[in-house]
Amino acid sequence: MKAVRLVQLGQPLELHEVPIPSPGPHDVLVRVQAAGICHSDAHYRAGLSSVTPLPMTLGHEVAGVVEQVGGEVKTVKPGDRVCLHYLATCGACDWCRAGNEQFCRAAQTIGKHRAGGYAEFILMPARSVFALPDEIPFPQGAILMCSSATSLHALRQARL
Ligand SMILES: [Zn+2]
Ligand SMILES: [Zn+2]
Repeated sequence: MKAVRLVQLGQPLELHEVPIPSPGPHDVLVRVQAAGICHSDAHYRAGLSSVTPLPMTLGHEVAGVVEQVGGEVKTVKPGDRVCLHYLATCGACDWCRAGNEQFCRAAQTIGKHRAGGYAEFILMPARSVFALPDEIPFPQGAILMCSSATSLHALRQARL
């Protein structure tokens, strides 16, 4: 599949051909329909925030269609429209079980610690994959998962 990757800090992203990942029992393979360009991606490219390992497929605001699911996945099925949490979390630690998965010590940010959405496909644990209603187009669904959530949190914190 095609993937747009950060290879060297400060340099343009590069289009590479990489293998399509195969889902483990709890994973979902998603055919990407939209991936937002976040200011964080500009920071990553500039070297202001570390990305490991390189090369890395960027993109953490992702929506698409389920292509394939692992044997244990019951929440989504092939053909479903979905959007992705930007964190792949363990689901087993105290933070995850309490619904505070943003504090999971095993969390990996897609497009920073594991392959992101600037590609034809992305692999995610099922617990980070959410149904996207038909009324919400893919581009809006993609940015719901970072840009819109960040703005909403800021508005709440400011008590506006
Ligand atoms: Zn973002
Ligand atoms: Zn966890």
